[in-house]
Amino acid sequence: MATMELNGKLCETTGCEKPASLQCPTCIKLKLDSSFFCSQECFKGCWNEHKKLHKKAKEITTTNGTSAYNPWPGFKFTGELRPYPQTPIRTVPKHINRPDYADHPEGFPTSERAIRGSTNIVQLNDEDQESMRTACKLAREVLDIGSQAVEVGVTADEIDRLVHEACIERDCYPSPLNYYNFPKSCCTSINEVICHGIPDTRPLKDGDIVNIDVTVYYNDFHGDLNETLFVGNVPESSKNLVKVTHECLSKAIEEVRPGVRYRDMGNIIQKHAQQHGYSVVRTYCGHGIHRLFHTSPNVPHYAKNKAVGVMKPGHAFTIEPMISEGTWRDETWPDNWTAVTQDGKRSAQFEHTLLVTDTGCDILTERPKGQPWFMDKL
Ligand SMILES: [Zn+2]
Ligand SMILES: [Zn+2]
Repeated sequence: MATMELNGKLCETTGCEKPASLQCPTCIKLKLDSSFFCSQECFKGCWNEHKKLHKKAKEITTTNGTSAYNPWPGFKFTGELRPYPQTPIRTVPKHINRPDYADHPEGFPTSERAIRGSTNIVQLNDEDQESMRTACKLAREVLDIGSQAVEVGVTADEIDRLVHEACIERDCYPSPLNYYNFPKSCCTSINEVICHGIPDTRPLKDGDIVNIDVTVYYNDFHGDLNETLFVGNVPESSKNLVKVTHECLSKAIEEVRPGVRYRDMGNIIQKHAQQHGYSVVRTYCGHGIHRLFHTSPNVPHYAKNKAVGVMKPGHAFTIEPMISEGTWRDETWPDNWTAVTQDGKRSAQFEHTLLVTDTGCDILTERPKGQPWFMDKL
């Protein structure tokens, strides 16, 4: 490998290659030493391309511990949260069983899309139910590993790394990775983020609430759950939001049994949320889950919805209410994933994967009995 030429800088203009000693004044100010030009003309000729370097450099400059990184100049954020740079995409060893979208260039889940629009709900046989139990138990273990790392100063990217590695240790594929090109192995949704936050290098702040959403794929089946956690000392108002959100999920689960309509879940959830002055997000719903990550039934969390289907033994699906302090309206960041509240107020979420039994349901992603939980003290 050759060493770098120190004194023989050449003009940046493509094809010019004359010796160059002129340096761009903005580059000097920004302490960038990469660009040299042979003449004013070459400098002017390069300007449109060259000035992009300045923009990029400014984006990654960090002042006073807050990131000046702004990939979307002109975008109006609804709250205080900002995106931070992401780390490179992590890989999964080839010996681990992968869903179809893992290797699709656009991350399309071909098998899901083939039956898109169908309202038929699969009743899993005993063997498939056992596979669901296993995938969900593994998902619970992985979420607990990610959750235990939550602390002031830890980045969501670090949580994602732990989740990713815990999946691999268990021979699981982290289901979110490359699903429609999602770049990470779990979702981390902070404060005003409703869901689908992308883990990045922002350190968690005292008072944040963070939802970690984990799905794993094992032996051809997905298991999916999420929880909202506290970072340091959280305001009482946020504690109450998180508590009520968890109650919304629990109350809905209590009513799951054969013969109940999927549309009834939203009535139960919205009633409880509204009693506490909160609103229910409408854009994102619970979903059928088994060999497919997201499939029928569609399970809205808001009242008076028109969801199709009646619960039967062997149905596997999630309930995952997103409850907001202010408006239920959402919008999406230009990364096309991060869903935030339109008023910038906080939103919380909990999710379980359920299996309908003959008399009720089993919570497949349930916390192991006897394991203490911060929610017990709320
Ligand atoms: Zn889900
Ligand atoms: Zn999930």
